[in-house]
Amino acid sequence: MIKYTSEIAKATDPLFEKVKNVIPSVEWPTMAPLVHRINELKAEKNAVVLAHNYQTPDIYHCVADFVGDSLQLAIQAQKTEADIIVQAGVHFMAETSKLLSPDKTVLIPSLDAGCSLAASITGQDVRQLKKKYPGVPVVTYVNTSADVKAESDICCTSANAIAVVEALGNDRVILLPDEYLSKNVAAQTEVEIIAWQGRCEVHERFTAEELRDYRESSPGVSILAHPECSPEVLEEADFAGSTSALIRYVNVNRPQKVMMVTECSMSDNVSAEIGEEVEFIRPCNLCPHMKTISLQNIVESLELIRHEVTIPEEIAARGRQAVKRMVDLEVEGKGFEKRSNQRDVIVEDRASVSSLGTLSR
Ligand code: SF4
Repeated sequence: MIKYTSEIAKATDPLFEKVKNVIPSVEWPTMAPLVHRINELKAEKNAVVLAHNYQTPDIYHCVADFVGDSLQLAIQAQKTEADIIVQAGVHFMAETSKLLSPDKTVLIPSLDAGCSLAASITGQDVRQLKKKYPGVPVVTYVNTSADVKAESDICCTSANAIAVVEALGNDRVILLPDEYLSKNVAAQTEVEIIAWQGRCEVHERFTAEELRDYRESSPGVSILAHPECSPEVLEEADFAGSTSALIRYVNVNRPQKVMMVTECSMSDNVSAEIGEEVEFIRPCNLCPHMKTISLQNIVESLELIRHEVTIPEEIAARGRQAVKRMVDLEVEGKGFEKRSNQRDVIVEDRASVSSLGTLSR
């Protein structure tokens, strides 16, 4: 265990300034030595930390070199000149970084950093779907394994999903694996969407009724929701968009009171930046996978070069193409505006496609 010395206090005080309204000062002496050690290790090993918007403020504001949503992190992974990328996010994000930076060492500090959406579908499921809908292009949310990306025509994120679906120029598109994101996209476009029955375990817990209760108890609150929430939740929201779109909304509009209907740490991270000008109402649904990443295991991953992410080249080559097509498309993110325009969407699952018999590659 590294001690909190006066030298470490002096080196880390400017970082504490950034987070002092969301991290109690009594907790800082346990965090500061780890923060200091990570920043030393990054310099020694030419490493960068890419942190998702759902990481806790100690990681997000004090050790991350780049922060953002999945799309922004994927773009940074492609641009960085560092030798090592530490992904302070979940496993599919680390795989995406590895796809885009195959010559770099990509580390995931915790092997438990999974995702309920990524776990909902396999490459074999996608092959079965393609058998059921021959010729229909497959758009895959980045929240999937490399194996699933390898079976896809193109990837998308919640920031660009509508634009990617429309850019393909087809009347019908398979959009995987988040059922709610797919339904929310279907409400915004004339393209017919075929969905998969995957859910984000964090966002599916929010209900429209809960939002109505918050509105009643906090008059004037601006409610901002992530499109992995159900269509009913989005209908209750004042604005819906990706994590980066929600942050932008708060920065530009500076509502007096705001509620971000997404993972808890987002509100802390934005609040640390904005200060007390905006009051955050915090419904708190934690992502248990994101929360397996800690300062301690980031130190260990850098010291021991532990939990390196590897992808078999045959899968990597095809998965990379799907991610690069999305990045190269450079489509502008489109907002979720027509939220009351719900349309029927076919939702497939493993049982509904497995009756077609196994398809080998
Ligand atoms: S918040 Fe949801 S989509 Fe994001 S990593 Fe956690 S389970 Fe997966």
